[in-house]
Amino acid sequence: MNGNNAKEKASLLLIYTGGTIGMKQDPADLTLKPFNFGQILEEVPELAKFAYRIDSYSFDPIIDSSDMEPSSWQKLAALIYERYDEYDGFVVLHGTDTMSYSASALSFMLEGLTKPVIFTGSQLPIGMPRTDGKENLISAVEIAAEKDGHGHARVPEVCVCFDNMLMRGNRTTKVNADNFRAFRSENFPPLAEAGIYIRYNDAAIRKPDDWNRKPVLHTALDTRVSILKIHPGITPQVVRDILCGKETRAVIIETYGSGNAPSKPWFIELIRQAAGMGKILLNVSQCLAGSVNMDIYANGKILKDAGVSSGYDSTTESALAKLFHLMGENGDNGAVKEMLDRNLRGEISK
Ligand code: ASP
Repeated sequence: MNGNNAKEKASLLLIYTGGTIGMKQDPADLTLKPFNFGQILEEVPELAKFAYRIDSYSFDPIIDSSDMEPSSWQKLAALIYERYDEYDGFVVLHGTDTMSYSASALSFMLEGLTKPVIFTGSQLPIGMPRTDGKENLISAVEIAAEKDGHGHARVPEVCVCFDNMLMRGNRTTKVNADNFRAFRSENFPPLAEAGIYIRYNDAAIRKPDDWNRKPVLHTALDTRVSILKIHPGITPQVVRDILCGKETRAVIIETYGSGNAPSKPWFIELIRQAAGMGKILLNVSQCLAGSVNMDIYANGKILKDAGVSSGYDSTTESALAKLFHLMGENGDNGAVKEMLDRNLRGEISK
């Protein structure tokens, strides 16, 4: 089957969860209001030029992505799983604020994907003249429908498509609140770039072990994770509250540079205390690019010896989602630590 034939037959499900992209200015009072998503083709007539069947599904109520919850991810993952056989690909319209968290979560919840799940959104509402929403949506739709020479999905991954870049979802971070280039994937190259042509970086795209097997849906999530961001002047009280809280099962420690934290005795003592309580401690760098390596500096080595696991070059968003997923699946912290060290969905370079 050649690429064009595949495109003509492509069928896609467009899932609208909320966010700026689905807003339109009400001419009466000039406020931004969500538009009726059933009429997406009226709003973006360009989509009709693709010979795709595009169905849409809207969350009810739609939400600003600041209100995204693990229960929304469960709903989204279950929806994609239930409708999986009906479509060639899925496009998720989502607010930008938590898009990287949601894309990371979905990458862990849908194991063995054979079809694209492309998240996109916009910085300006789709109903505004200078919107980036139309371009983002059109590129996401085209990528979600794209097949390779064997009729397989070209990008069977959970991705974020934004400002002409297609990125692995669990590698992205929102870096800009104003600019159209809102997302970056510093530790992994783009999976595709849309210029005059969409150029795919096929070597970087993950492929399933078995194209004929339906993905495994994982919906169990354990959210007992807190994040400790190290900073000069951090106090023992604050560190103790976060590390040793009774309800906390895991702590992401956002460290400096290649995984360094203060070497003060009280700090190390608290790390040892939390590790002794059986808590999972995961070291992720505050830097956007580069990796944790606790063997380089003495301050990093102290953390490793005290029982802290390496998050390698993970984003914080992805580390959080991975912990929710692994802890939801495993009651045993030792098993979680062992799985944390593995590259499950391309989220770490290992
Ligand atoms: N607050 C909005 C949201 O994340 C911003 C956006 O859509 O870009 O839902």
